Amino acid sequence: MTPLLSLTGVTRRFGGLKAVDNVSLSIGQGEILGLIGPNGAGKSTLINVVTGVHPATAGQVRFRGQDITRHKSYQIARLGLARTFQIVQPFPRMTVAENVAAGAVFAGGAENLVQGRAATRDLLRLTKLDRVAEAPAATLTLAQRKRLELAKGLAMRPSVLLLDEVNAGLNPTEIDEALALIRHIAETGITIVVVEHLMKVVMSISQRLAVLHQGQLIAEGKPDVVMDNRAVVEAYLGPRYAASMEKQP
Ligand code: ADP
Ligand code: MG
Repeated sequence: MTPLLSLTGVTRRFGGLKAVDNVSLSIGQGEILGLIGPNGAGKSTLINVVTGVHPATAGQVRFRGQDITRHKSYQIARLGLARTFQIVQPFPRMTVAENVAAGAVFAGGAENLVQGRAATRDLLRLTKLDRVAEAPAATLTLAQRKRLELAKGLAMRPSVLLLDEVNAGLNPTEIDEALALIRHIAETGITIVVVEHLMKVVMSISQRLAVLHQGQLIAEGKPDVVMDNRAVVEAYLGPRYAASMEKQP
């Protein structure tokens, strides 16, 4: 079966730094893939490469078999790859509803803001933003802004949604709510890549994990198997901790 999204030998350099280093990875239709790794591992850069924000320096990205490595970000969004940003940046003076509508106009097939707004009413309800729909986006709490990012992404009617740390900065209750929402979105048939630096969060929703460390893919597979991998433990907790774990019965 052809994977929905596949990366082959993808590298992204920033000057002398290989932020993403020769990564090959595929994602199947309907999958929830967790992409994890410590801060600075290259997770956001990988998302930026896939979505055309910082195109690959080498390697190839394919979506539904089509080479999209050199596509512009708006072209990629219109093909059905939507993403959220780690740093949430709504249009602050536009209302919440207008922000979502803008996503619908940008890549969701709506021809103008009026059509876009109609298309996004359900999304506001889904993301529990309906009651603040007419408030300026700048007035939202962090948890609400994260949900707004999700709603904007969904307004593009994606087949793949890449979520960059949508849970960062949330409290445990808010994280549980966000995970329930992500599961619900997955059940509608949207393929999801969840980028996280917190292992516990991704463990609970991912069918498969991919681990980045210093730009390289160091492990990939079922969550429990990946978490038993010594290289993964070392990347997160340091070699001394990994060694001490092995000595225990
Ligand atoms: P993560 O999302 O896993 O925390 P990033 O992808 O943000 O990691 O960063 C990976 C590495 O690439 C870091 O060393 C970071 O400083 C560097 N980097 C990311 N974006 C840029 C950029 N636009 N210019 C220069 N260096 C960058
Ligand atoms: Mg990041």
